[in-house]
Amino acid sequence: MAETIFSRILRGELPCHKVYEDDKVLAFLDIMPLSRGHLLVIPKEPAETVDQLSDESAAAIGRVLPRLARAVMKVSGATAYNILQNNGAPAHQAVFHVHFHIIPKLGADGLGIGWKSGRLDGADGAALAGEMAAAL
Ligand code: 5GP
Repeated sequence: MAETIFSRILRGELPCHKVYEDDKVLAFLDIMPLSRGHLLVIPKEPAETVDQLSDESAAAIGRVLPRLARAVMKVSGATAYNILQNNGAPAHQAVFHVHFHIIPKLGADGLGIGWKSGRLDGADGAALAGEMAAAL
């Protein structure tokens, strides 16, 4: 995996406002927050996208996400928030080291989402679910 700004933060070469750290996970404030309290949660394991992450690192992040979300809500005062996780440049990933955003929704501040939904066709749904289950 290519070097990223987050690798340098993990090595302590660049500063961050650290909120949480354990042997597998680091959480720090986003430098360009969408709202006050916008937090980034990253694995220490080098992986560009979630599909490349080990079960152990994924579990470590999953274990701490609820606690971090509670801290973000308590300190920001938000009662709503988004957890966003982008994979690949077309999906708006800018830093190619896995990261989860916890973004408080504070009035107009926070994540804005364009959500152009379709309608799942029953036959296609059955085919898709079957193919995905077989691909696991
Ligand atoms: P992405 O679009 O890849 O999901 O989001 C990358 C995030 O990393 C952005 O929200 C951006 O503000 C944040 N970011 C980029 N460089 C730095 C940095 O040097 N320090 C911190 N704390 N956040 C950064």
